[in-house]
Amino acid sequence: MDCWNQKIETMGRKDIERMQLSSLKELVTRLYDSSPHYHSRMREAGVLPGDIRTLEDIVRLPSMNKIDLRDNYPDKLFTAPPEDVIRYHVSSGTTGKPTVVGYTRNDIENWSESLARSFASFGLGRQDVIQVSNGYGLFSGGLGMHYGVEKLGAAVVPASTGGTKKQIDLIKDLRVTAIACTPSYLVHMIEVAEGMGLDFRNDTRMRAAILGAEPWSENMRRHIEDRMGIKAQNCYGASELSGPLFTECHEQDGIHIWGDLCLIEVVDPETGEHVGDGERGELVFTMLKREALPIIRYRIGDLSEITWEKCNCGRTHPRLQRLTGRVDDMIIIRGINVFPSQVEHVLGEIDEVTQQYMIIVESRGVMDNMSVQVELDPKAFTDDILALRGISSKVARALQEVLNVKVDVQLMEPGSLPRFEGKSKRVIDKRVMM
Ligand SMILES: [Zn+2]
Repeated sequence: MDCWNQKIETMGRKDIERMQLSSLKELVTRLYDSSPHYHSRMREAGVLPGDIRTLEDIVRLPSMNKIDLRDNYPDKLFTAPPEDVIRYHVSSGTTGKPTVVGYTRNDIENWSESLARSFASFGLGRQDVIQVSNGYGLFSGGLGMHYGVEKLGAAVVPASTGGTKKQIDLIKDLRVTAIACTPSYLVHMIEVAEGMGLDFRNDTRMRAAILGAEPWSENMRRHIEDRMGIKAQNCYGASELSGPLFTECHEQDGIHIWGDLCLIEVVDPETGEHVGDGERGELVFTMLKREALPIIRYRIGDLSEITWEKCNCGRTHPRLQRLTGRVDDMIIIRGINVFPSQVEHVLGEIDEVTQQYMIIVESRGVMDNMSVQVELDPKAFTDDILALRGISSKVARALQEVLNVKVDVQLMEPGSLPRFEGKSKRVIDKRVMM
């Protein structure tokens, strides 16, 4: 087995949970004693450090979210002495103030350890040359990956973003074996390489990619793996949690979340209560070892599920399944939660339509009605009414099967729906909210 830290990565669930409980107790005591913010939050919630006796007691602690970080800009939530902070990363908030994350030497060490374990879990090691094409700078992606690669002992090519042709030359000339970047950038790189007459399969030593920082589908994974002849590994992280932190192992069956560093809960986004094992909900993170900026019961807004079932690779830590959307994107129709990502996925499986779509929700009498406008694929564009009717009922059936909600489908001419340069707006909700 290709473990970086065999003892920890394969310990039983009970032992992991024992470590988690002892770290949690230590963390809570430290925060209560040294941070005025956490001290008063805990008193408001009526919980003292001594009340945390089992892992289940974590629900008694107050949760936090991005607003807490923003309101305490730049460093009011930091709990390490200023001289112990050795790095800052700053994420550009789309609205309002950015959020600042500070790191002590131990924070950087644990972050790098997490990534080194992850890289080793799909077969990377000292012999590898890894190109980091995530952005370097205030964004935590580039430098996070960089330190992880150095920890692993592989060679790092700090390419950062941009200059795609040069990046491709470097991959060839420095015999690069793996790349870290966003999935969409890698798809772009494949196109540029083809234009340069380069075939990743035959002309390079590439064998893996570490992809994250944006949602991507299994279809995209297959596309990248086929075109490049590599393994494309899903990576999870967030600036608040440090940056990129966890990946899948070579089994590609969920992301291993290292339980000694991070405690993950899954809650109902509405009530905040724990969902059952293997059920989907909002992810809540507690970083058990963070020193500079404690992250405790952080509601990150991503929706997914976790399993504690032992992975075929032999690792025992909980595994995170693919993200299925964001809490902020959720629409509730007739009591059923619907995510634009589900609609997008269904449309992606149907050849006659594109993934350019718009969801419209409105009240019809006492009932909510959902319709989806979707552009026809130019190849399927026709004025044959029967053919169009056939396509629209095919789309409606496929959507209803996945969403469990009846959907009206309107086929649109290619190019007729609005395009978005930044964050797309795919939902128009015309309901009158009470
Ligand atoms: Zn595994």
